[in-house]
Amino acid sequence: MKGIYVHVPFCKSKCTYCDFASFPKEIGKTESYFACLYREMEGRGKQLKNKTFDTVYIGGGTPSVVESKFIVGAIRQIKKQFNLSKNPEITIEINPGTVTEQKIKDYKSVGINRFSIGLQTGYDDQLKRLNRIHTAKDFLICCNMLKGENKSADILIGLADQTAEQVKKSIDLAIAGEVNHISMYALTPEVGTPIYTDYLNGLLPSGDEIAELYDIAREYLSQKGFERYEVSNFCKKGFESKHNLNYWQRGEYIGLGVSASSFIDDRRFTNTFSIDEYMNAIIYNKAPEISSDIIELEDAKFECIMLGLRTEKGVDKKQFNQEFNCDFDKEYKNAIDKKGEYLINTPTKISINPEYLYVQNDIILEFMK
Ligand code: SF4
Repeated sequence: MKGIYVHVPFCKSKCTYCDFASFPKEIGKTESYFACLYREMEGRGKQLKNKTFDTVYIGGGTPSVVESKFIVGAIRQIKKQFNLSKNPEITIEINPGTVTEQKIKDYKSVGINRFSIGLQTGYDDQLKRLNRIHTAKDFLICCNMLKGENKSADILIGLADQTAEQVKKSIDLAIAGEVNHISMYALTPEVGTPIYTDYLNGLLPSGDEIAELYDIAREYLSQKGFERYEVSNFCKKGFESKHNLNYWQRGEYIGLGVSASSFIDDRRFTNTFSIDEYMNAIIYNKAPEISSDIIELEDAKFECIMLGLRTEKGVDKKQFNQEFNCDFDKEYKNAIDKKGEYLINTPTKISINPEYLYVQNDIILEFMK
């Protein structure tokens, strides 16, 4: 499988925990940014004309904050410049309070068939504290506009004073919006974000408290028919995000736009985080990349294990042995012996015991050489 990621770096305002490439004050540059994006698509499309892509993901930022003509133009340009498989999964991230019936109609007219909605929490006071622009009611209005569509909701855990009951109620709200996929992320107080002050002042829950919230939420999601398929992702049967599965299966993807990362032909590369630098590079026919690394064999093996162990299915040992021409059990005997109690190791696959999936980092690091 292969994917295309497009980054839209605009938002209405900056959330207190956000360290993504999103620039509310730069929204006036939308028109010129998309002009450059279309040009980058043309260039990358030429380079990658021998590859076929199965998924497209328009993320951000808030893609739904810009006029829908830009998104429609982006999808049309992707279809013109890249080979897409027959029925590609095309997802757009949207935030409640930024969509209209007309925008949704326009998105659907170009084949967008999956909508990822930023709910975060069902509590208006918490949304306000995070500087989100929407309310719980806006989320339901947005879901109503998308009735019958393939929808996902994002939920955050680890907010100040957040209780398990509140996380459950937020899940209930997502379910009331008829989503079939839920991504549940732990809030990370990054240095340089306003919420980092709350963290320093001890206002955010500890790692152990968040792990407890996660376990309760996971159990609750399971009761509601949402099974975990990756550490932060839960869905009803058959509604996994193909685009994200491709990342975890170490499939190739091309990232377009500011800050977008790519993995193509064993090379990982990332575009600049600055809108001006990005546009200048495109205008002067230069690659907007700020880093580029060829992934050597040992790193490729570790990536495969690290990404695979994040998922419920784990690592397919047969596939691994074929791809890297090695014997998984022999090569990783030490790690398997040392972390055996946390692993499910069968002749064909290795995965983390579901109980420990949330605290996988220590286990995974053991496989690093
Ligand atoms: S909506 Fe998302 S990308 Fe935009 S500021 Fe908030 S967290 Fe960041």
